[in-house]
Amino acid sequence: MEPRATLNYDEENETRKTLEKQGYHFVGTHKHSAVKTCLWLRKSIRGEGNCYKGKFYGISAHRCVQMTPSIFCNQRCVHCWRPLEAFNINIRTEEVVWDSPEEIVEGCIKEQKRLISGFKGSPKTNKDVFAEAEVPKHAAISLIGEPTLYPYLNELIQEFHSHGMTTFVVTNGTNPEVLREISPSQLYLSLNAPDEAIYKKVAHANYWSQIKESLKEIRRKKGRTRTVIRITCIEGRNRVKPDGYAELLEIAKPDFVEVKAYMHIGYSRKRLSREAMPAHSRVKEFASEIVELLASASNYKIVDESEISRVVLISSGRKRFLQ
Ligand code: SF4
Repeated sequence: MEPRATLNYDEENETRKTLEKQGYHFVGTHKHSAVKTCLWLRKSIRGEGNCYKGKFYGISAHRCVQMTPSIFCNQRCVHCWRPLEAFNINIRTEEVVWDSPEEIVEGCIKEQKRLISGFKGSPKTNKDVFAEAEVPKHAAISLIGEPTLYPYLNELIQEFHSHGMTTFVVTNGTNPEVLREISPSQLYLSLNAPDEAIYKKVAHANYWSQIKESLKEIRRKKGRTRTVIRITCIEGRNRVKPDGYAELLEIAKPDFVEVKAYMHIGYSRKRLSREAMPAHSRVKEFASEIVELLASASNYKIVDESEISRVVLISSGRKRFLQ
């Protein structure tokens, strides 16, 4: 079959428009990459606060480009805020013509600059902070979709690094062979279940053995790339079996674990009720149970939390701030 020159946006036009209305800006020729400014970037430019990644790891939200090189995903997580129904089905990634890392990085930086330009004239904007924001220092490769489906992820990370930027990559762990290759500044694996049965119900996919292999890859990164396992807790679905999570964490031995609440936003509201979003106290309680279950020889401790983002940070003792 001939490769598709671009995504067929005649068929997917409605979804594309919806994503654009939600603030996603497509970059590159073939429109498989996107960038979006977040609430915390806007707050940070106005001097009104920083996101939990700032509190935990020293990232300045106003200098962070939140992007994805692949709007496609191979899972269909119940808690995903994307319109999964459109982008996960019928997309054969081998048919997509992929843009180069150079084009994507240049497109993201240019688009971010355009998106923040409106803040320049605002009386609330701190001029020094705005000048910093025009020169981003960090790329969060985690916006929507699964970044390991982009075939040049390693080169994309290196391209961001060549611009003097640090990188966070968030993966669902379904492509362990890609994890073997890449060395972002910090590598996250989103672990959505304590066992295979729950995984299938939460992610609606069949990649459990690959995810277990990815946990081993995370362990092999020790000393080379900072590693994080993120557990997104959904009340009544996967906020169960802390012993299962502890066992999986023992395989990965990450530098950090983030235990975070599912947030009732975007398209996930069509699939889950508000009650599925746990209170911060419930997240903290679950994080404590996991820490207690981790082998007594390990140094894992709860070291920080952000109540507004309903997230708790567990650390193995590694230095937290990137710089
Ligand atoms: S892996 Fe991430 S992007 Fe993919 S469906 Fe799940 S939450 Fe959404």
